[in-house]
Amino acid sequence: MSTVQQEQKGYFGEFGGSFVPPELQNVLDILAEQFEAYKDDPDFNQEFRYYLKEFVGRPSPLTFAQRLTERLGGGKIYLKREDLNHTGSHKINNVIGQILLAKRMGAKRVIAETGAGQHGVATATACAMFGMDCTIYMGAEDTRRQALNVFRMELLGAKVVAVKKGQGRLKDAVDEALNDLVQNYKNTFYLLGSAVGPHPFPTMVKHFQAVISEESKQQIIEKEGRLPDAVIACVGGGSNAIGAFAHYLDEPDVRLIGVEPDQAATLTEGVPAVIHGFKCLVLLDEAGNPRPTYSIAAGLDYPGIGPEHSHLKVSGRAEYVTVTNEEVLEAFQLLSQTEGIIPALESAHAVAYACKLAPALSPDQVIVVNLSGRGDKDVQQVFDMLKRNG
Ligand SMILES: *Cc1c(COP(=O)(O)O)cnc(C)c1O
Repeated sequence: MSTVQQEQKGYFGEFGGSFVPPELQNVLDILAEQFEAYKDDPDFNQEFRYYLKEFVGRPSPLTFAQRLTERLGGGKIYLKREDLNHTGSHKINNVIGQILLAKRMGAKRVIAETGAGQHGVATATACAMFGMDCTIYMGAEDTRRQALNVFRMELLGAKVVAVKKGQGRLKDAVDEALNDLVQNYKNTFYLLGSAVGPHPFPTMVKHFQAVISEESKQQIIEKEGRLPDAVIACVGGGSNAIGAFAHYLDEPDVRLIGVEPDQAATLTEGVPAVIHGFKCLVLLDEAGNPRPTYSIAAGLDYPGIGPEHSHLKVSGRAEYVTVTNEEVLEAFQLLSQTEGIIPALESAHAVAYACKLAPALSPDQVIVVNLSGRGDKDVQQVFDMLKRNG
């Protein structure tokens, strides 16, 4: 079976698919059919491109990090600036794509899950602009860690539901959002925020996030006259990474490197299992239940991973590595001080690995780091951590 056929069925090697109750499968079948119909529709794409330009602010720059490169010695580091997007991260790319689809499918109500709050804010923002009713599910623990983002979503007119079940984290918020969809699918569109979930979500989210590497490929060729030696992105569910990798997947000389927190190392330590209606590598405990994860970056705190990353890991096309909280905090400060860019804690994982890789490369080699978001939301948390640790 060719890759294309597998993708159409929502499989990436053995991963992906759709393992949901029949009533939900009906909704997903319609969604898959509508997505297939619109993704190559010129009017749909023109509208998508219009909002990316006029509302999100694309194309995002590819900035040469000169002082960081000099400080580290070795390969040249470029930053793909998703932090400069409206609402502060890559999440808005996918939100615009899916909300345009929701509109065309006649939905009046949008629901979403959120971890760090970035996807919730992006969804609430787009719902405000398009005049859609909006409900955001967020783990109770995350509402505490990201209280300002909760208020931001409310300010934008969304209803935020704090989920107290389980660990009160992203995984639990996804469970609640899926329950809502099963009950209300007739008027409701579930706007999923990462490259996870049952088919067609991983394929659809990749499609809308692929604009990142579509741009970066063109930009690096303009600036360096060649492809990068490595592309580095942090991995939570995997949407910024798959968007950053997409247009390089068929370029075998470009190393693709996903970075995870060492305490949520799904791709490094996970085993094949079904979670949230799809098959991927999952961190399980000895009883076979999803294992509690921990990350200082709420957006990376998820025990599953996108099915395509699971496949890229098993096939060896992409590499997945881990970094520690200490390395992340160091990278967070180093990028701030050398480049005047405060990264999201999630993105600081990618920066942290670039700091390890760059010195091993020669000065004519090039690394593209996907800077998935800006760090304003994390400044208070980092302040507390650095103060507590002296
Ligand atoms: C949500 C988020 C992530 C993690 O999600 P992915 O789907 O893995 O990209 C990474 N960075 C930022 C800034 C985020 O908001």
